[in-house]
Amino acid sequence: MLLHDQMHSIMVDKDLCTGCVLCTLACPVQAIRVRDGKADVVKSNQCIDCGECLRVCPQQAVRSMTTQRQDLTGYKALAALPSPVLYAQFGEGHTPNDILLALKSVGFDYVFDLAVNCEMVFVAIDEYLRRNPAPRPMISNFCPPIARMILKSYPNLVSHILPIEVPRETAAKAARRRITRDRGIPPDQIGVFHITPCAAKMVSIMKPVGVDKSDLDGAIAIRDLYVPMMKALESVEEIEDESVLQRSSGVGISWSIGRGSVRGLPNRPSLSVTGVKDVIRILDDVDAGRVNGIDYLELSICPGGCVGGPLVVENKHVATSRIEDLITQYGVRSRIDARKVLRTYEQTYLLSSARFRAEEPPPLDTDLDRALEKMNRIEELVGILPGKQCGACGAPSCRDLAEDIVRGNASLSDCVFIRVKELEDACARSGD
Ligand code: SF4
Ligand code: SF4
Repeated sequence: MLLHDQMHSIMVDKDLCTGCVLCTLACPVQAIRVRDGKADVVKSNQCIDCGECLRVCPQQAVRSMTTQRQDLTGYKALAALPSPVLYAQFGEGHTPNDILLALKSVGFDYVFDLAVNCEMVFVAIDEYLRRNPAPRPMISNFCPPIARMILKSYPNLVSHILPIEVPRETAAKAARRRITRDRGIPPDQIGVFHITPCAAKMVSIMKPVGVDKSDLDGAIAIRDLYVPMMKALESVEEIEDESVLQRSSGVGISWSIGRGSVRGLPNRPSLSVTGVKDVIRILDDVDAGRVNGIDYLELSICPGGCVGGPLVVENKHVATSRIEDLITQYGVRSRIDARKVLRTYEQTYLLSSARFRAEEPPPLDTDLDRALEKMNRIEELVGILPGKQCGACGAPSCRDLAEDIVRGNASLSDCVFIRVKELEDACARSGD
């Protein structure tokens, strides 16, 4: 079974880490340090599970912590809820329905088309925006690192997080209900798993934001299922299952690429931004009041949207093109009953905005005077350090090293330039 106290979606394999500092420099929230030649997420309370470290590590030393095959035992029924990204992983010639059948054949009793729930959520977003004219823009909460980033770094924007249950959770609730109804299996004996392009979904299941408990039991990496699914697809005609599992239109499928909201909310001024650097830029702009006239801001931490997730197999550009083909093929006219969706959301899936709370970073000191002294000392150290921002000390910037020193976690001689200067001075003195 799963590790239910899991706090983050990544871990560093110290045996593989060469201490190259690429992850330290890539981490957008400066959570990683290289100490004694090995990387570690030392500021784990700051980590937002964006997966940037996993993406840049040349040694594959950063690992994702997703559900493994052995975690699937002990359930009376297994259900899979695949991200629509899965439809773009197997090249042309395999329909979404073939892909869902192949997924079912590799060990699941039920497979549900999550794209349908993605399509449903646009109806709920549109209605929420109609009923709540402020604040603007409302920001999507479907990509877990985005909500965490806002809670940790943008306290003024917490009220902008859209308080609507995410599609994978609405789908999980519906799947559990349906299996219990059809087969009489108690809900807690059904394993419901998201098939995911990113490891952050695992943390959103183990430690959800805005709700007490997730309805999912875990998240399986798309790349872990690729080989058995590809084999199943190669002999798809031998799969003795003629069910029609794919029910979504192109609107739900478009969820997996940037600008999904443009198709899902055609009458709303909305903006879609992907990739961690651009996400930070737009959040800075919203925070500074520079983004006006936009109702809905759809943000994805991965470049290009979920197709750019670190746990996929297909190149994100190829996958985007495949998804665009599917959108054309299945059309952008939603197939769902909007009135039914609204009723369901009203009853169950609207979250309370009060559940989202800003998270304060740990103070430099609990005593205010000492905290001020420490802040001054950081500024002093920043003036002493060379300002090269090279990362050779194991911290992502000279300011981060200064803060580490003041917090007692590093010393000035961790800076290679200071160390060289100290050695030169010592040599000069011994030569006198
Ligand atoms: S990127 Fe980070 S984890 Fe990977 S080898 Fe370099 S220092 Fe180690
Ligand atoms: S997952 Fe993102 S936030 Fe967390 S340590 Fe890696 S790069 Fe930093």
